[in-house]
Amino acid sequence: MAAAHSIGLQSPVTELFGVGPERAAQLARLKIATVGDLLLHRPARYEDRRRALSIRDLKLKEPALVRGKVVAMGLKRYRKGTRSVFELVLDDGTARLHCQWWNLPFMEQYFNQGEEVVVYGKPRLVKPRTMDHPETEVIETGEELSIHMNRIVPIYPLTEGLPQRWLRSLIWRTLPQFKAEFGKLSQTVPGFPSAELALEAIHFPQEMDEVEPARRRLAFDEFLALQLQIQRRRRNLEQNAKGLPCSGNNSLIKPFLKQLGFQLTDAQTRVLRELRHDLGGEVPMRRLLQGDVGCGKTVVAACCALMSIESGFSVALMAPTEILAEQHYRNFQTWFDPLGIPVLMHTGSRKTAGASARILPLPLGGEGRGEGAVRGKQASSLVIGTHALIQEAFQLDNLGLVIIDEQHKFGVVQREKLVRKGRYPHLLVMTATPIPRTLGLTLYGDLDISIINQLPANRAKIRTFIRSADTLPKVMDFIRSHLKQKRQAYVVYPRVDETSDGTVKAVITESDRLQAALRPFRVGVLHGRLRTDEKERVTDQFRKNQLQVLLTTSIVEVGVDVPNATVMLIENAEQFGLAQLHQIRGRVGRGVHESYCILIADPKTREARQRLRVLEQTTDGFTIAEADLKLRGPGELVGQEQSGMPSFRFGNLAEDGPLIEKARDTARAMLVGEGR
Ligand code: ADP
Ligand code: MG
Repeated sequence: MAAAHSIGLQSPVTELFGVGPERAAQLARLKIATVGDLLLHRPARYEDRRRALSIRDLKLKEPALVRGKVVAMGLKRYRKGTRSVFELVLDDGTARLHCQWWNLPFMEQYFNQGEEVVVYGKPRLVKPRTMDHPETEVIETGEELSIHMNRIVPIYPLTEGLPQRWLRSLIWRTLPQFKAEFGKLSQTVPGFPSAELALEAIHFPQEMDEVEPARRRLAFDEFLALQLQIQRRRRNLEQNAKGLPCSGNNSLIKPFLKQLGFQLTDAQTRVLRELRHDLGGEVPMRRLLQGDVGCGKTVVAACCALMSIESGFSVALMAPTEILAEQHYRNFQTWFDPLGIPVLMHTGSRKTAGASARILPLPLGGEGRGEGAVRGKQASSLVIGTHALIQEAFQLDNLGLVIIDEQHKFGVVQREKLVRKGRYPHLLVMTATPIPRTLGLTLYGDLDISIINQLPANRAKIRTFIRSADTLPKVMDFIRSHLKQKRQAYVVYPRVDETSDGTVKAVITESDRLQAALRPFRVGVLHGRLRTDEKERVTDQFRKNQLQVLLTTSIVEVGVDVPNATVMLIENAEQFGLAQLHQIRGRVGRGVHESYCILIADPKTREARQRLRVLEQTTDGFTIAEADLKLRGPGELVGQEQSGMPSFRFGNLAEDGPLIEKARDTARAMLVGEGR
């Protein structure tokens, strides 16, 4: 205690009285390293131990608090003394309660005949009334109030070897010492309890309805810290970086749009205006382009790339998978070759070196186009690749624009790395996962957002049905009828291999069966474990309709574009998230033919079926994403840790929308203060 004044929230827990190396190691497993971490260890739940019942009124399996006198106790050993049960019998005048502890012989030392004991637990039996391993406390005369009884008691997440009571006592003792310091670090928020009171209430609330306001108060601090970080990063960019002039002069876009074969939608045109404005702006563009699957983000990206190239700057396009990179490569080659723009490839298995040696010497830069306005001395080009683009070895001179497709597979850190390849190039991030607003503010708070909220007019409808596995023969007939009309189909399974219990269908084991069911049509197999050239070959054959059916995993989720495919069959659909199913479904309905998505699910629970109904009812990606966020949480929506998803102890992205916006506004106001 003497040294208490020199310990702070940042001090390691070992500085606390009673925390030795062993306890510290256990706490470390709970991510508790410092005193501050300890104070932010959030109870998993609470137990109301204020009202004692009469022992007579105990009900089977209902947790309750009772108190009584010890009228009997004894330790029984058996199996040659290796096993034991200690029994304590309490009587409160209404009935008797048997408390039992298995293989904890030392419990005997804690009690004496005639003592008054408080017990909290769940009756395992009511004849006779019996509790196993209840929490107990001997009532010392004169000391009624305690930490573990007669109050609303926090129940903390634990780790092996760490007793609940020990941890609760530690927090109980630590809290009064440090709560003032904790409160000082945080500012007052109108309408909320102070941080100090919130911290007290989250651990030892007087009433249960204090807990939620306390949680929200502590969540606000988490959101605020993140918003400050996001907005400071953004402000640094705005103060230190100058936007490269990349808005172009229309010399390439005009012929590009002419050869395209369709008109841009109004939404595409509007977004392009926003992008052009950014590309000519004072500050490097930092923009997120959202749009449902099939809304035509790639064409917009192409136009953006052309603006940059018109201005004499090169462009890098990063895709999350090699298949998607290859597909972009093919697309962009057909689009850009006639315009004389080099398109290069840089993935794990294909390097720019070869490609650039082949392509770069061609004099296709400014001179080739004969445009006076073009500034580039060398050929500005488009490089397409995967994460290989962010590896150290890769260098691209004159980089003006970085485009990241399907951002949800990349993290913030990766994004920053790629951008640092040039001197503050513009950044366009594209995602087909419609991100609910709260998530957007959290994950992409440093990006401006453009939304393509319209599908091209010629788009066929997609009808979605949920079916159980016993209807599969009928579904096969249905697929067959579409194949006969020269259409194509996807069949998606969740896994590559069978699970050990055989419940989840797996691509490799199912391929023979499916081929037999659909003969003479040809079934190809595509999954992540194939070599890149094999993947490419299969995708290519499917594209050319040499394969009519593609049996695959969620690998098709991103990007594969075969407009002739009209049926999507997804097996074990309950294994996927809604947003993911929506992405997969987006592989059909890309042409003019009416399309179908059949979800096979034998959901054991009603919930699973309810969840899938959302897909039957709507094709609106935002509605689906909101539902998914509520049902499965943000990790599922954006792809777990690699997404750079910040983790919150108290914040809840699915529920705290208004709180997040408040934190953003507060951060903004604080930065204005700082800026002066
Ligand atoms: P996503 O936004 O999912 O990336 P894509 O860019 O792959 O969508 O576009 C899906 C398909 O729609 C492509 O075949 C593309 O050529 C086509 N497309 C894009 N814009 C239009 C449009 N305005 N009119 C008709 N078809 C379009
Ligand atoms: Mg796309």
